[in-house]
Amino acid sequence: MDIFVEPIGRLINEFSKLPGVGKKTAQRYAYKIINMSAAEAEGFANAVTEAKRKVRYCSICGNFTENDVCDVCLKRDRSVICVVKEPKDVIALEKLHEYKGVYHVLHGVINPMEGVGPNDIRIKELLARVGEGGVQEVIMATNPDVEGEATAMYIARLLKPLGVNVTRLAHGIPVGGELEYTDDVTLSRALSERKSI
Ligand SMILES: [Zn+2]
Repeated sequence: MDIFVEPIGRLINEFSKLPGVGKKTAQRYAYKIINMSAAEAEGFANAVTEAKRKVRYCSICGNFTENDVCDVCLKRDRSVICVVKEPKDVIALEKLHEYKGVYHVLHGVINPMEGVGPNDIRIKELLARVGEGGVQEVIMATNPDVEGEATAMYIARLLKPLGVNVTRLAHGIPVGGELEYTDDVTLSRALSERKSI
């Protein structure tokens, strides 16, 4: 016999699917939900389904958006494209309030060990964007780990013949580190001191 009433057990099971949430935390979350008012619990459930229903990828940059094209792509300087691995890297850079260009989210990096090749991430979409013209600089802002560096170099090789200036975030971000966990001062300096590659 299960020690939890079935609906609570199910809730615990759902919460434990989240990153960093173990069985104990999942239990605490489940009990918290049970103790909410009906309206509060409904609001919580609605936020989950609405987010899933409304959020999609921008057809240009691949970042999350509610519309076909995101606000950054619509309103900002399209002559500079900053290439990142994941949507959360855009958040890390946007928090600095310094960068005025647009982004390109690869949704991964080349990682042969895990079977991720150049065709599995959004490289051809980037080449198409640059190929349309009007782009002066592409900043490679993938993480400074082995896969991030290899991906940056691979893409730089493809972009060079298109006559665009390809730069890389300056060092200062610890090798093997991630943009998401880099402090704002270091990340800001890495961005402003970027070098051509
Ligand atoms: Zn966009």
